[in-house]
Amino acid sequence: MPLFSLRRDGLTSPAWLVLALLAAAGAGWLGRRAWRRRRLARLFARPLPAFARDILARRAPLLARLPAELKPRLEGHVQCFLAEKTFVGCGGLVVDDEMRLTIAAHASLLVLHRDPPVWRSFSTVLVYPESFVAPEVEYDGPVEIHRRHVRAGESWPRGPVVLSWADVLEGAADPGDGYNVVLHEFAHKLDEEYAEQPDKPLLDPAGRARWLRVLSREFERFRRRLEEGQEDFIDEYAALSPAEFFAILTELFFERGAELRRRLPELYEQLAAFYRLDPASWETFPSGKPRSASAVRCTETLPTPANWPHRCRRRE
Ligand SMILES: [Zn+2]
Repeated sequence: MPLFSLRRDGLTSPAWLVLALLAAAGAGWLGRRAWRRRRLARLFARPLPAFARDILARRAPLLARLPAELKPRLEGHVQCFLAEKTFVGCGGLVVDDEMRLTIAAHASLLVLHRDPPVWRSFSTVLVYPESFVAPEVEYDGPVEIHRRHVRAGESWPRGPVVLSWADVLEGAADPGDGYNVVLHEFAHKLDEEYAEQPDKPLLDPAGRARWLRVLSREFERFRRRLEEGQEDFIDEYAALSPAEFFAILTELFFERGAELRRRLPELYEQLAAFYRLDPASWETFPSGKPRSASAVRCTETLPTPANWPHRCRRRE
């Protein structure tokens, strides 16, 4: 008898059994989802303990700029991040609380305006002690070229974020240089998540149209300035793709927001609308100095096999 032929003799029908199993599975899924949301809501309301605040005060000076009303939201996001994500040490590294907190806190800056759950596209953060070597495939027509690059970070589509702890520390130490590999890689993650959820746009249709218009125009203007040999405030690596332009701008937005607003006000305005934050108005750090534009680069590796990382920061 076919599985879904309905018999009239009651609940012994295979079809009813299947429906009952599906209903039970659905109820289980809804129950788990509701349980997770309640758990995250509890964590989100929980402040960080004193030792964690001490670590962040030392390792994440950028956070000292945050307005007081945003600090509880940041701590809530850190709690949720630490509860939901797995950190894995690579290359012999043993991941400790300092590493977990520093990475989680910088990533949480990007989602301050959102309520948990956030960061749906990955569950693991891999941490190397230093910049790591990763293979890369490039194509020149029919020719496949294999290269090896030293990287400070990577963001794998629907996969882990990979970070070099030495570069995390360096990026976090000077919150005014516009370089922060954690902000960069998690900006790629946000980009990926929004691209995969067109039914949940962050901006309304008019806002989205403005966003696309301004970013496309500024991206082309930036590339033109580079072609003309002009020095630029934005790292030249941002010219590689719109994704890298967005990730580099995110670093500048949080670390050199006032300067970004002064130089490129429309671009700043769009980022402020996207992140729903105004870091240019936060307290600034007098120690912040611009980083050399050529000191750090990352690379776009498309086209590559589907399982390769397509966004990363590369050291040269
Ligand atoms: Zn990148």
